[in-house]
Amino acid sequence: MRRTNPNNDYFQLSANGGLPRYLTLQALENRKFIARAVAIGRCFLCAASDIDVTGLCLICRSFLSDEERQAAQAYYDGVF
Ligand SMILES: [Zn+2]
Repeated sequence: MRRTNPNNDYFQLSANGGLPRYLTLQALENRKFIARAVAIGRCFLCAASDIDVTGLCLICRSFLSDEERQAAQAYYDGVF
């Protein structure tokens, strides 16, 4: 998932070489991807270590759109 030379476009690209911001919804809809992030123990956007079942840290969760938040909610509800 490593991209070459992120241009630090604040919300489109993540800071620490994680997944580009615009792929967040796709990632949240991919259970295997989230499971891998949780197993690794790093936020899949910014690589912070304080993540929860969504594979995201508190900071990145606070930036989710309504649509992304809804996708993330499924992990809390355990509904798939
Ligand atoms: Zn994060």
